[in-house]
Amino acid sequence: MINMEEIDPWGNGLVEYANLFREFGMQKISPETAKRLAKSRLFRRGIIFAHRDFDRFIQAHDKGEPVAAMSGIKPSGEFHLGSKMTAEELIFMQKEFGAKVFYAIADLEAYADNGLGLAEGAENAVSNVADMLALGLDTKNAYVWRQSNEKRVMNLAYIFSRRTTLATLQALYGERNMGLYLSVLTQAGDILLPQLKDFEGPKEVVVPVGADQDPHIRFTRDIAQKFNSEYGFVTPCATYHMFFRSLNGETKMSKRDPMNILTLADEGKALKQKLSNTFTGGRATAEEQRKLGGETEKCVIYELMKFHFYENDEDLKKMYEDCRSGKILCGECKKIRIEKITEYLKAHQEKKKKMMEKARKLVDGSGE
Ligand code: SF4
Repeated sequence: MINMEEIDPWGNGLVEYANLFREFGMQKISPETAKRLAKSRLFRRGIIFAHRDFDRFIQAHDKGEPVAAMSGIKPSGEFHLGSKMTAEELIFMQKEFGAKVFYAIADLEAYADNGLGLAEGAENAVSNVADMLALGLDTKNAYVWRQSNEKRVMNLAYIFSRRTTLATLQALYGERNMGLYLSVLTQAGDILLPQLKDFEGPKEVVVPVGADQDPHIRFTRDIAQKFNSEYGFVTPCATYHMFFRSLNGETKMSKRDPMNILTLADEGKALKQKLSNTFTGGRATAEEQRKLGGETEKCVIYELMKFHFYENDEDLKKMYEDCRSGKILCGECKKIRIEKITEYLKAHQEKKKKMMEKARKLVDGSGE
C-alpha cells in the first residue's frame, strides 16, 4: 500500500513511481506519444512519464478542436527548478498544440499554507510571471489571474463545496486545516475555469503537474463529473513529471528548504556555493572512481543537466559516459557544469529583467 505521506502535495516525500501506476491508475506515456513529442526534452527523456487521458487531448487537437493547458504557482518565493519545469510544459503545449495557457497565481493557497499576505504574494507573482515570459510564454494566447482577484474561481469553489464532504477531503489529504481544504476547492475552480462560457465553454484541458499533485487532479476530475450536467465540464487530463530532487538529494525540491533549492534568481558566489555543495554520485576515493566510474543514478549534478540544462542529448551522453567510465572525477565535472548553469541563469535573468514591467501589468490586471 502506498502511504498518504508519499503522495502529499504539501509534503516533501519521494514516491515509488511504479506504485502510481499500480495504486492510482495513472497511465504510462506511450512510446508513440514520446516519439511524437520528442522535440521536448521532458518527453524525449521520459521525465514526463505518466498521464491521465492525455491521448484524448491530442485527439481533440488533431480534430481541430480548441484545447487549453492549465497550471499555476503558489507565489511564496522565486521560481525554482520544479516551477520552471511546469512552466516549460505549459509553453510547450502552447507552441505544439496551440493550447491557450491558463495560469493561476495561487495567492489564497499561499496564505492558507504559508501565512503569506496577499500584497507580498502579488509582489512575488510579478517575478514569477516575468520568469514565465522569459521562458517564452506567448501572452496573446494566455490568461493569468490571482485567485484572490478572480471571482469566477471563488464562485466555482463555493458551488463545488455543496457536493464535497469533509470525509472525501480527509481521505485524499489526511487531517488538514480548513484553509487547505478550501484551497483544494479553489484549485478545482482554477482547473475548471477554462471551461466556463466566458472562455468558450467545455474543452479538453491538460494540467501538467508533478506526480505529488495527483490528489488535486483526482479530486477535480471527480468534481468535473459531478457537475457535468450543470456545466458540461469535460474531465480534465493531466501529464505527470518526475520530482526534481533537492540539491542534497534527500527530498523533492521545495521552497520549504531554501538552502537546497536552485532558483532562477540564483547568481554569483551563492550560486557557486550551492552547486559546489550539491550531492553527487562520486565514490569514496578518486582511485575507486577511476576504476568503477561514478554513479549517475545518485548524482544530483547529473540530474540537473538531464532535467534542465543540457538541451542537446549528445552533451548529456558525453557527461554520462565520461562519468561511468571513470574518465572524469567529480571536482572537474562539477566545474564544467557550474559554468554551464551559471551561463544559462545569467542569460535568463537578463531576459527576465526586460519582462518585469509587462509581468506587473499582467498581475495587476489579473482576473478583471
Ligand atoms: Fe556526478 Fe559528474 Fe561525479 Fe559523475 S563525475 S558522479 S556525473 S558529478
